[in-house]
Amino acid sequence: MSPTHTSDVLVVGGGIIGLVTAWRAAQRGLATAVVDPEPGGGAARVAAGMLAAVTELHYGEQTLLGLNLASARRYPDFAAELTELTGHDLGYRRCGTLAVALDADDRAHLRELHALQQRSGLDSQWLSGRECRRLEPMLAPGVRGGLRVDGDHQIDPRRLAAALVTACERAGVVVHRAWAERLALAGDRATGVVTADGTELGAGQVVLAGGSLSGRLADVPPDVLPPVRPVKGQVVRLTMPARLGPFLNRTVRAVVRGSHVYLVPRESGELVIGATSEEMGWDTTVTAGGVYELLRDAHELVPGITELPLTETRAGLRPGSPDNAPLLGPTGLEGLLLATGHYRNGVLLTPVTGDVMAHALTTGELPEEARPFTPRRFGAAVLTEQPA
Ligand SMILES: Cc1cc2nc3c(=O)[nH]c(=O)nc-3n(C[C@H](O)[C@H](O)[C@H](O)COP(=O)(O)OP(=O)(O)OC[C@H]3O[C@@H](n4cnc5c(N)ncnc54)[C@H](O)[C@@H]3O)c2cc1C
Repeated sequence: MSPTHTSDVLVVGGGIIGLVTAWRAAQRGLATAVVDPEPGGGAARVAAGMLAAVTELHYGEQTLLGLNLASARRYPDFAAELTELTGHDLGYRRCGTLAVALDADDRAHLRELHALQQRSGLDSQWLSGRECRRLEPMLAPGVRGGLRVDGDHQIDPRRLAAALVTACERAGVVVHRAWAERLALAGDRATGVVTADGTELGAGQVVLAGGSLSGRLADVPPDVLPPVRPVKGQVVRLTMPARLGPFLNRTVRAVVRGSHVYLVPRESGELVIGATSEEMGWDTTVTAGGVYELLRDAHELVPGITELPLTETRAGLRPGSPDNAPLLGPTGLEGLLLATGHYRNGVLLTPVTGDVMAHALTTGELPEEARPFTPRRFGAAVLTEQPA
């Protein structure tokens, strides 16, 4: 069968990661196409959009920290370029973050995080409970202390996705609104995909950027199949009426009884409260328990939220990888590259991913900063069987 359409690069998946890859590839002069039934959808519909390289630092993730910081540094220019090109306001807000503690255990945990941040050369400042409340008067009186991180910002992921769709259109990216059923192969080489209606889309290089579904494209040889899994996150959206004045000035987050909770106030008046972290396969049901826990924990931090209108509840799937870091660049199969596994930092990592993938697609190699994230660091994918 000869392909109906051909391009230099075919990106499977039009979430923010596939779109930024396609946009940057097209800017480098490559004839680029994206295949996705609903480009601009995916996890960005649900995500909070924290750009939190510093407050998301976890033990054992120092390598990922380097990539997160590299992407955070790119954000001001990236957002300005995208806005200028598309006319979209991305809701990019350089507001900083306050991570607070509600009891002695949380405080000890936050002190440890502060020490780790200091050892890693990051900018964060310890504040007393009173100093936290001076910054954010809506905080509960019981707040025992916190970390002020002025470099962790936010963007509206839905607006980012919409702007990337427009940027791709302007750059001449062809969009196939279809589902890629299987990888097309010729000998030991990927040559495109076959869509659900049997159409073959041919390409010199195929980038698999299917988020949590990246491991499910048929006919990808097992030794290069990405070991990604869906990690469910539920989110609640409230509205902060303008007449109440500034409700929160920056992102506020905490660990309450072992669960992470954050409140992200947008300039539009939206307040995003997230997020649960659940290993439930591809289930995206919003549950009473999930919403209850988010509101209960957020209420302990900021009691005034109970007065705000509740406008939306949603669940989405983070593309988790075995080491919580993305898989970027060429695989062991000629013609197949990966851009997936961005887990809880996909919005933050969008700018650097676009640059890294464009470099890989034009040179065949990863730039220095992305070498630790080669898909080749994993052997044959070990996937737990998940329900369809
Ligand atoms: C609750 C929640 C909160 C989050 N908060 C943050 C945050 O604050 N900051 C942050 O940086 N990140 C956050 N994230 C993570 C971030 O949203 C993701 O890492 C990122 O959106 C992943 O983008 P993606 O393009 O790789 O995948 P997705 O968004 O999953 O997109 C994949 C796309 O590929 C398509 N696709 C898959 N397979 C095929 C196929 N075979 N054929 C055609 N199309 C296909 C799908 O339709 C989909 O459109 C959060 C995620 C969740 C769920």
